[in-house]
Amino acid sequence: MKRSIFRTISTTRSLAAPTAKSSSPLHLHTLLSHAGISPTAHSSGLSPSIDPSTTFERSPDLTFPLGHIYSRISNPTRSNLESVLSSLESSTFPCQTSTFSSGMAAVNSVITSNLALHGSCHLLIPDDCYHGVPYQLTTLFHKGSNVTWSKCDFTNYNEVVSKLKGKGPETIVWAETPSNPLLKITDISTLKATINKISPSSILLVDMTWSPPTITKGLEEGADIVLHSCTKYFGGHSDVLMGSITTRVNTEIGDMIRIQQGAVGGVPGAWDCWLVLRGLRSMHVRVERACENAGRLAGWLEGREEVGKVHYPGLVTHPGHEVAKRQMEMFGGMVSFEVGGREEAVKVQAGAEVVRRATSLGGTETLIEHRESIEPEGGKVSPEGLLRVSVGIEKWEDLERDFERMLDGIKKK
Ligand SMILES: *Cc1c(COP(=O)(O)O)cnc(C)c1O
Repeated sequence: MKRSIFRTISTTRSLAAPTAKSSSPLHLHTLLSHAGISPTAHSSGLSPSIDPSTTFERSPDLTFPLGHIYSRISNPTRSNLESVLSSLESSTFPCQTSTFSSGMAAVNSVITSNLALHGSCHLLIPDDCYHGVPYQLTTLFHKGSNVTWSKCDFTNYNEVVSKLKGKGPETIVWAETPSNPLLKITDISTLKATINKISPSSILLVDMTWSPPTITKGLEEGADIVLHSCTKYFGGHSDVLMGSITTRVNTEIGDMIRIQQGAVGGVPGAWDCWLVLRGLRSMHVRVERACENAGRLAGWLEGREEVGKVHYPGLVTHPGHEVAKRQMEMFGGMVSFEVGGREEAVKVQAGAEVVRRATSLGGTETLIEHRESIEPEGGKVSPEGLLRVSVGIEKWEDLERDFERMLDGIKKK
């Protein structure tokens, strides 16, 4: 397969992205509201068309009229979504996005692509990394596989420097902000500056699942790769599994990820791409309401005597608050808090009536989760008394009453 095929498709812009008459680019919220509108010869519909075709007709002269050959390599609905996702990450430089059938398939693509480029891959992951990443590393990349990793507290400058020393292009600094589940804030631009100083050929990847581009644009902050689980805020309705990777155009790693995508085919289907395009059209409003509710919840929890630590970057007491104020448009929709030990935490979540007990995040409905009990043995990062909340877009007063009921269950008489 010629490389040029991947190039053509990866850089196509959305067919009908709204354009401003004046020279000022449209605001992200406006781009989202019109996400994916792509009139075709057959439809001027304002809902993106779905093209489930796996194969595309070839011209007598052996060319492919719209660039699509076979859906493992590219598909019109997927390309539409990938163009939209690229346009969300920067208004000042062109980006390239590859989508995958899950966030973890995207994670795997980064690792194997880096391995393909350099013959080995080293990941420097956060000490409270999303547990799926260490799980994948330990189950699939055992000793001798040329994939190695170490953990790091990215809020500790000296530790970052010592772990980066002597590292080369095989190393991917793998940050998450806010982190899961302790909501630690990584200063992306400072981390990038440190990498540039200590090991300039290493790559900075930021998993931005918890702060979508309406909150933070990771590439503009200095990341080389931005990874999203689109399952969360992008889809936004707990009904589609997907992952995405965005880089600037024409980067070695971005192009290899595109090749890996076509070579392996861990890609989302056209229907799923359509669902994410639909979710994106209201993402800014959903995220805004979730952040508003989360801020209220965090403040309210802080005032309750049953609650110990509350982890939320919007609180002035949060160690990452100052960085978050600069780096984040809003403080996010995720909150975690601690209520004594496991017994108390289990009791609190058992009392939920409006809030749903489930894992995941980024949907319209508020979720609560006892995290430690679903983390795999050997990969536990959550304290036993911690509850993680993905705040939804309900009316705050209904949430407040539910949390009141839950905490009353462990009230000291
Ligand atoms: C959910 C999640 C992932 C994995 O994504 P899937 O779509 O579930 O495979 C990766 N990183 C973070 C931070 C997540 O929350």
